[in-house]
Amino acid sequence: MKDSLKIIAQEVSECTKCPLYKHAKHGVPGEGPVNAKVFFIGQAPGANEDETGRPFIGRSGKYLTKMIESIGLKREEVFITSTVKHFPPKNRAPTEQEIHACRPYLLRQLKLVKPEIVVLLGRTAECIKPYIEAKHVISTVHPSAAMRFTKMAERMKNDFQKLKMLISESF
Ligand code: URA
Repeated sequence: MKDSLKIIAQEVSECTKCPLYKHAKHGVPGEGPVNAKVFFIGQAPGANEDETGRPFIGRSGKYLTKMIESIGLKREEVFITSTVKHFPPKNRAPTEQEIHACRPYLLRQLKLVKPEIVVLLGRTAECIKPYIEAKHVISTVHPSAAMRFTKMAERMKNDFQKLKMLISESF
């Protein structure tokens, strides 16, 4: 059967490839159009995302949405997902095994969307970098770090300016 974002979302919702599903309420596959040019990858769903099944809708999601809008993009036109698709208990960072188990979903999403630009948000997403094939890959900090530390906020702002330039050059 031909792969699709819908099939991936269904598989994520039933996934038992690592133990995270045991304590989570919903899988959070990510969202965005299949023709998105920019593809954001975070760490893992938090409690709000676990409740709803939607990515980046809590505080750090609001921050990310503001950053996206600050460079003239709309949240609805980009793809937003996380490295790991189930909520890790107590919001801890996902383990190497969890990242490994979840990686095929992300790679299938990337294969379908074929974005021009991939933005890695923080250290967990950075682990995926060697597996990503895209014209441009930008690494920045996770929005939850930018919310807490001025230096990180500055870094994210600068990286988003680079992203803006790249967008204006690419499409
Ligand atoms: N942080 C992430 O990395 N992903 C989410 O969906 C929410 C918070």
